[in-house]
Amino acid sequence: MDQSHIRNFSIVAHIDHGKSTLADRILELTDTVEKREMVSQMLDTMDLERERGITIKLNAVQLIYHAKNGEDYLFHLIDTPGHVDFSYEVSRSLAACEGAVLVVDAAQGVQAQTLANVYLALDNDLEILPVLNKVDLPSAQPDVVKEEIENLIGLDCSQAVEISAKSGLNVDKVLEEIVDKLPAPSGDANAPLQALVFDSFYDSYRGIIAFVSVKNGVLKPKDKIRFMATGAEYEVIEVGVRTPKEVIKDQLTTGEVGWISAAIKNIEDVRVGDTITHVNTPAKEPLKGYREMNPMVYCGLYPVDNARYDDLKEALSKLKLNDASLQFEPETSQALGFGFRCGFLGLLHMDVVEERLEREFNLDLIATSPSVIYHVFKTDGTMEAIDNPAALPPAQNIDHIEEPYVSAEIMVPKEYVGAMMDLCQKKRGEYVDLQVLDDIRMLMKYELPLSEIIFDFFDKMKSCTKGYASLDYEISGYRESKLVKMDILLNGQIIDALSTIVYKDFAYHRGNAMTIKLKEIIPKQQFEIPVQAAIGGKVIARTNIKALRKNVLAKCYGGDISRKKKLLEKQKEGKKRMKMVGSVEIPQEAFMAVLSMD
Ligand code: GDP
Ligand code: MG
Repeated sequence: MDQSHIRNFSIVAHIDHGKSTLADRILELTDTVEKREMVSQMLDTMDLERERGITIKLNAVQLIYHAKNGEDYLFHLIDTPGHVDFSYEVSRSLAACEGAVLVVDAAQGVQAQTLANVYLALDNDLEILPVLNKVDLPSAQPDVVKEEIENLIGLDCSQAVEISAKSGLNVDKVLEEIVDKLPAPSGDANAPLQALVFDSFYDSYRGIIAFVSVKNGVLKPKDKIRFMATGAEYEVIEVGVRTPKEVIKDQLTTGEVGWISAAIKNIEDVRVGDTITHVNTPAKEPLKGYREMNPMVYCGLYPVDNARYDDLKEALSKLKLNDASLQFEPETSQALGFGFRCGFLGLLHMDVVEERLEREFNLDLIATSPSVIYHVFKTDGTMEAIDNPAALPPAQNIDHIEEPYVSAEIMVPKEYVGAMMDLCQKKRGEYVDLQVLDDIRMLMKYELPLSEIIFDFFDKMKSCTKGYASLDYEISGYRESKLVKMDILLNGQIIDALSTIVYKDFAYHRGNAMTIKLKEIIPKQQFEIPVQAAIGGKVIARTNIKALRKNVLAKCYGGDISRKKKLLEKQKEGKKRMKMVGSVEIPQEAFMAVLSMD
């Protein structure tokens, strides 16, 4: 197809505003997917995405649109996640596009991630096409929201299409707008090859599959290619696109978005953000890659079965292909043995990675409680960055500790401003500003410690505003705080993987809550187990887990053997996620106990 008839675009929006549903309608309208094959949220291909109803991964499909002017257009549509933890996926998608369809829920209006995504699109010089969704809802106020978009974002909305992605109303008009308003890719098919790698995954038969956006030149099977950053060279075996089924093509030309396979087995050779060129006629320069993402949250991941350490290592490397923002390095814990300290963009990201490792790689894992990076200034004048509470130097060697702060922007309906302010105050927030957005909503600005945000801030915010507030934040810098390490002792022994760094004034309360929680979670054993929280050797809270009296089998005395077997099996299953630490068996939840406290 002629390059002037190609349109590459992403769909961006705040979470739940209807991106995936709009993508579904577009796939239907263009007959890309046959009706009988259609399922909702078609592009959310991971089980995990379907179960949770959220998009985690970007997903690129090629489709052909017969426009009203009688001509055919080749579209590449990239659906993207909306949650802040996955904004890295969004920024990578955008670099493969010329335009973005900005979906705004006409009942909810502009939300924090609407703004964040618009800024990402503008950073990438994309043409933005605003679309008002959910106009079928009785509470929809498209005119009010249009004005909001004009005021807050500065986008002209006079011609914004009002749609219902659910019913399909006016979705055809969006397709026409894409043809009329979004630019075609500008590259040169005769120039040396430059193909941007924007995603990849590991396929056990074909090796690593890389997703590319061809910015200049043409990519064909048998081509000798080089990854410009890593220097790795391969011969292309197959190229193709997704529709969303995989379709093999004889070439990918300038402006096209697709995949290549080249029997790549070495995971280090493929890096998201790298440029592929030809070995014989190389491009002079690589394309502008991606900004490295710095993890915000760290935790230790350990195999329940120590013998599976190497499997975990391989699984992490393979997963990193598909999730470039994941970071990891080996670490050891006295309590848990050999594992990895992993860095994530947020708690949801951490949760998703853990679950993918367990499902896609069949691992049983213990995750330690999450931590941010602390800057520890020592009495000898040096500074150490600490992402693991257990690694904190002894108190007498510490001069002071700094923790990361974020500038948070919270959009909230007026009636919940008071509740939100209370929450921010409780989370050690510092008030910065409060602006009136319109008749209904206010924009609150706070400086907050990241460690408070990553724990339960989202959940607390949702519950105290009935789900009507939205949050966006970015790291603003480090500040000195009164922080101490709190150790947990079980049976008199410090369990390093349970240590946390806490704000001093909260320590007593947290210590108490933590010991009570652990008492609930850790099953009774043959002997009594004291549970203590301590700061610098001084016990601040204590409770006991009483000794187990009854044998589970006693209940079945005289009973039939199959029931006995079942009980034993059940017990064994329950044990799967337990870790024997010294003489005490600790279940996985114990390491996350800190997350479920007030
Ligand atoms: P995403 O997070 O932006 O991908 O949003 P989804 O496409 O997953 O949609 C979120 C929810 O909104 C789903 O329950 C959809 O069924 C619903 N939804 C999407 N579009 C519309 C619409 O036009 N009208 C109504 N009433 N609901 C919609
Ligand atoms: Mg979605």
